[in-house]
Amino acid sequence: MENIRVRFAPSPTGYLHVGGLRTALYNYLFARRNNGKFILRIEDTDRNRFVEGAVENLIEALKWCGLEFDEGPEVGGSFGPYMQSQRLDIYQKYVQELISNGNAYYCFCSQQRLEVLKEEQQKQKLPQAKYDKHCLTLSKKEVEEKLANKDPFVIRLNIEPNHRIIFDDIVRGKVEFDSNNVDDQVLIKSDGYPTYHLANVVDDHLMQISHVIRGEEWLSSTPKHVLLYDSFKWERPIFAHLPLLLNPDRSKLSKRQGDVAVEDYRTKGFLKEALVNFVALLGWNAGDDQEFYYMNELIEKFTLERVNKAGAVFDLEKLNWLNAEHLRKKSNEELFILLKQEILNSQFSINNYNDSYLLRVIAAMKERVSFVHEYLTKSPYFFEAPKEYEETAVQKNWNHETPAQLQKLSDEFNILVNPEKEDYEHALHKVAEELNVGKGKLIHPLRLAVSATSTGPGVFDIVVILGKEETISRIKNALEKIKIS
Ligand code: GLU
Repeated sequence: MENIRVRFAPSPTGYLHVGGLRTALYNYLFARRNNGKFILRIEDTDRNRFVEGAVENLIEALKWCGLEFDEGPEVGGSFGPYMQSQRLDIYQKYVQELISNGNAYYCFCSQQRLEVLKEEQQKQKLPQAKYDKHCLTLSKKEVEEKLANKDPFVIRLNIEPNHRIIFDDIVRGKVEFDSNNVDDQVLIKSDGYPTYHLANVVDDHLMQISHVIRGEEWLSSTPKHVLLYDSFKWERPIFAHLPLLLNPDRSKLSKRQGDVAVEDYRTKGFLKEALVNFVALLGWNAGDDQEFYYMNELIEKFTLERVNKAGAVFDLEKLNWLNAEHLRKKSNEELFILLKQEILNSQFSINNYNDSYLLRVIAAMKERVSFVHEYLTKSPYFFEAPKEYEETAVQKNWNHETPAQLQKLSDEFNILVNPEKEDYEHALHKVAEELNVGKGKLIHPLRLAVSATSTGPGVFDIVVILGKEETISRIKNALEKIKIS
């Protein structure tokens, strides 16, 4: 394919929605796969919805996910500016062209008239409220007088009734709309700003966008856009409308049922690789049952032809699973960097642990964690000595003979010199024989004493990481603190 240029065109509402990330990702994958350009354009013409810092947040979230754009705010490009609020004169110029060829017209109707019209149409049970083209009957002279008089106005698209508007969509095939069901859309609002429809089409044309890849919620706007392209005698881009995202109960994905902002997932400790992998599968598959992907493989395999029409269910379980998978596939060195950062953000002090200590913790816990923060929550005993002990484990593993037995074990550990894992094992074996008890009688209380819990890596793995001094001190603490009746 030649000259592939695609864009992600968000309205900055304050955060990047996961649906937005899916749209951005599919555009990005399509561009990279076809050696095209991925453009970020900010559609900020709705001044009522302006949110301070929203653009910066959005760019930050895209970058975090690894979606670098080739043109856009911050990076520039030869089709800028890339913020629609900086392109207002361009839209004015083009709307004049539409007015002069009869494809758009001034409308001076008051808000009040429009409301009455709407009420009447609702009474008649019309499927949707539509403007009645009242101002299209104004003569040129009347329009000029009203303009000279500075009467407030909007500019509307003049939709010719009684014909079919047809366009092709890569995902949905041939799509048809009846022009009688399409409203004479406002193109320029009374504040002089363009609506989404005008600005979007003008910019897609001027920025030479080859493919418009966006969410299904924009499908019903597309007939208006198609009419605009045709009115300007511009070539239409190729359209691909991505399926809706659904909650597990198949309702439209909404904030009420969970997190929808990329930032929320980031804060919760999801890896960007997992989130990108997960989002890529919301409406696309390669035709096999592969689910684990890195970005480079997605780029290699992604095609718009394999995007589904049916809504895609947002399954949090799968995201959790992918996170665990991506985490486990990381090298210990990569995990080390992530863990260090996690400790820096926690109540623990990074100065207490040297690098080789952390690497040993990683080796012991790697298969047991699904999130980086679980290194701290599932095995806090690597970062601080237990203060309290799991009650059920105490009940189960601690009896009146335990203190004397553990004391003996501790004494045996004490005489070891630079012990390795096997040395601890031998020492415990020896004490068990001397006491004539099964090894379990020592292993379980030892685990409880050093880790406060009954689960986790093998007890000798824990002990060798903690070291002799710490192990002995923890046994001593447990002997003082654990009281049974
Ligand atoms: N500004 C629209 C949005 O917020 C863009 C839709 C489109 O891609 O055309 O999603």
